[in-house]
Amino acid sequence: MRTDNFQAPDYYNIDELLTDEHKIVRDAAREWVKREISPIIEDAAQKAEFPKSIISGLAEIGAFGPYIPEEYGGAGLDQISYGLIMQEIERGDSGVRSTASVQSSLVMFPIYKYGTEEQRKKYLPKLASGEFMGCFGLTEPDHGSNPGGMTTNFKDKGDHYLLNGAKMWISNAPFADIAVVWAKDENGRIHGLIVERGMEGFSTPETHNKWSLRASATGELIFDNVKVPKENLMPNKSGLGAPLGCLDSARYGIAWGAIGAAMDCYDTALRYAKERVQFDKPIAGTQLQQKKLAEMITEITKAQLMAWRLGVLKNEGKATSAQISMAKRNNVEMAIKIAREARQILGGMGITGEYSIMRHMMNLESVITYEGTHDIHLLITGMDITGIPAFQ
Ligand SMILES: Cc1cc2nc3c(=O)[nH]c(=O)nc-3n(C[C@H](O)[C@H](O)[C@H](O)COP(=O)(O)OP(=O)(O)OC[C@H]3O[C@@H](n4cnc5c(N)ncnc54)[C@H](O)[C@@H]3O)c2cc1C
Repeated sequence: MRTDNFQAPDYYNIDELLTDEHKIVRDAAREWVKREISPIIEDAAQKAEFPKSIISGLAEIGAFGPYIPEEYGGAGLDQISYGLIMQEIERGDSGVRSTASVQSSLVMFPIYKYGTEEQRKKYLPKLASGEFMGCFGLTEPDHGSNPGGMTTNFKDKGDHYLLNGAKMWISNAPFADIAVVWAKDENGRIHGLIVERGMEGFSTPETHNKWSLRASATGELIFDNVKVPKENLMPNKSGLGAPLGCLDSARYGIAWGAIGAAMDCYDTALRYAKERVQFDKPIAGTQLQQKKLAEMITEITKAQLMAWRLGVLKNEGKATSAQISMAKRNNVEMAIKIAREARQILGGMGITGEYSIMRHMMNLESVITYEGTHDIHLLITGMDITGIPAFQ
């Protein structure tokens, strides 16, 4: 079993910007990851299995609905606490963080924001405790970056809706109890529906052979004339803005989460470089390795400050979608570059499961693509500063 010696880097004393509550929440998540994730994650990733035994622990550290009010079972925390929890979980593994992100921002958030009071009471407490797991179906085989083109649709049949279509690349799909599904009505307007496992015509085949996010289960959602009760439509928001609102919340969490993966890679590489002796001295004493390590801590520090400031704006209700896009894009690219450099510092050992770096690197290849690709986030910034969309 791998020993987890993680020491979190904080070069600019960013801890001083955090409240006591932030630090308590962060430290509890950090300890839990050390105790419950680090010992099992390499094995889960090698076997390509989501470790379901961690679900109750994720719920206990507040990872399911950190900012959902306590009356619905959430932790009632602010946005910086939410970000810090995501950072710590992704320090362990991006796949585990993906499960928590989906549950919180893509399932609980829309039910809380767009759902009825009955839907909130029925689903949110069970999702917060992990009794129910959820997934979010937006992407389709022919509509990834352009979800507005979706063809999944439902028809009003009087006492129910009839849902048809297919979604792919859906995190948590193979084991989810419920799916928040985005589909068009007969007028072509997008709505969110809550589809429950067991509804006739609804299946969730697993996607195999992934080299990335192996400890996260991914699958399809197939709807073959599924009868969805009318009370399962979330009535309070429709149009593409509804799923995009959920993505804002999840992308914000990713901006923090990626810092966790980067911190783990940096910390591992720094320790290794100080211990590994070649040509009669530690490789950390060579200029080439110091350049890599110095640039890593600089980039991590910039990302930490960006995430913290975005958290302040989000707490004040002022963070824009474009600001969130910029942070997601910057911080994931920062993490993937650090993973690649850190891997080289470990030489041959860097490719083994003895260390977490290669797993982080492969995971980040999904993180840079999902929730809006690296290109799409750049186009969002471009549109924001010029006023001209360049998507088509
Ligand atoms: C492991 C994993 C988990 C996922 N989980 C979920 C989930 O839970 N729920 C969900 O709904 N989706 C999920 N996704 C889907 C993810 O959001 C999509 O993969 C992503 O949006 C990109 O869509 P695509 O793969 O179809 O790529 P495409 O949209 O086909 O893009 C291919 C390439 O073309 C580029 N491109 C596209 N449009 C433009 C343009 N206008 N200008 C320039 N370049 C462009 C892209 O940047 C990309 O490089 C997941 C994906 C993965 C890999």
